[in-house]
Amino acid sequence: MRVTILGSGSEGNALLLESGTTSVLVDAGLSHRKLVQRFAAVGRKAPENIAALVVTHSHGDHAAHASTYATRFGCPVRASEATMPSIRLKPAVQAETFTVGRRFVVGDITIHSRSVPHDAPQVALMFETKVTTVGLVTDLGHVPKGLGTFLSDCETLLLEANHDPDMLETGPYPDMLKRRVAGSLGHLSNGQAGDVLAGLAHAPKRVVLMHLSETNNSPRLARNSAEAALGHQSTELLLAQQQQPLELGAMRDRQLQLGL
Ligand SMILES: [Zn+2]
Ligand SMILES: [Zn+2]
Repeated sequence: MRVTILGSGSEGNALLLESGTTSVLVDAGLSHRKLVQRFAAVGRKAPENIAALVVTHSHGDHAAHASTYATRFGCPVRASEATMPSIRLKPAVQAETFTVGRRFVVGDITIHSRSVPHDAPQVALMFETKVTTVGLVTDLGHVPKGLGTFLSDCETLLLEANHDPDMLETGPYPDMLKRRVAGSLGHLSNGQAGDVLAGLAHAPKRVVLMHLSETNNSPRLARNSAEAALGHQSTELLLAQQQQPLELGAMRDRQLQLGL
């Protein structure tokens, strides 16, 4: 599965997953114009054959442009039953809810979900094809019991590492916002992201740290924390950015193993 992260962080999130025959957009926090620019930055046009836009939760940095994407790409919006009513969609847009915990299928991608703690209903997602699995978990305030089990088969894991607690504490955010970000329904710190990684039965082949705060984190601190948690594992570690797209190739090793 090819993964292209168009942008990641509080100013807007969007990513594209492409299996052999199915393309799925996840989250719509960048304007359509920006989305097109980000595709151009990796040398491609915005894809035309999007099977669905999956929205993780209703916060603006994930859902603000859902209606525009659905219209432009001519695809349905998929969101959980708890999230869908909070997304503003034009009447013409096809809205299809899914039940958290019950898998659903889009083309040749099976999508699994489980809820995670945030100050809006939010889900961790796992995208499964015949050859690989990609997990996505951002926007959660603490690590709920059972998350490691949910993510244990991920080959690629896209995981929030939002802030360094000391940078947040001494940084410029107003106190109320500091408490929200650090709270149990806020965002995952570098250390908590490390806890997720250390708690996995199998290390993923690739981990991408997501939703880094440009104010309360540094790429170096986020990377150090994840590296320490992964120990000697041969996991490839990457960082998604707010302003630049990041294109991940298919996991070729696994495909070779399977003789594809
Ligand atoms: Zn967010
Ligand atoms: Zn959020």
